[in-house]
Amino acid sequence: MASYFDEHNCEPLEAGQQPNHHLHLARLLLDSGVGAELELEFGRIFGGVDGRKQPPAAKHVIDGLKSTNKFNADEKCAVCLKEFDLNGTKELPCRHKFCTDCIVRWLKLVNSCPMCRVELPTDDHDYEEYKKQKERVKERQVALDELHNSMFS
Ligand SMILES: [Zn+2]
Ligand SMILES: [Zn+2]
Repeated sequence: MASYFDEHNCEPLEAGQQPNHHLHLARLLLDSGVGAELELEFGRIFGGVDGRKQPPAAKHVIDGLKSTNKFNADEKCAVCLKEFDLNGTKELPCRHKFCTDCIVRWLKLVNSCPMCRVELPTDDHDYEEYKKQKERVKERQVALDELHNSMFS
């Protein structure tokens, strides 16, 4: 499928910079809002095993984002590429920093860090249940693997 990305993913990368599909999407979303095509792409990237789309971060998480003024003078927000503002910079639990405007808008769309995709809690009961179930399946798999290893090694 020729996607929005294939057509628009032509920005030159700075030396040493890896293409970051996820980050690119964050920029597009914040630049242009969510169009139908972008929404599709969004669902594809954030879709889990069963294609479930990640919900926004919980309101209390967004409201409670930690402000920070600890950054280097030349550090930039990875989303909008502007230098950080002493009074308007937030740090996520994963230690990634963004300007307040970018990260608040982002987290109202999706509950994960634009850089590393660590997930934050959501207000979406169904999604939280789904996450727990996924976690349980994983634990069971680990337990089975361990059992297997102890029996056959
Ligand atoms: Zn920004
Ligand atoms: Zn992060």
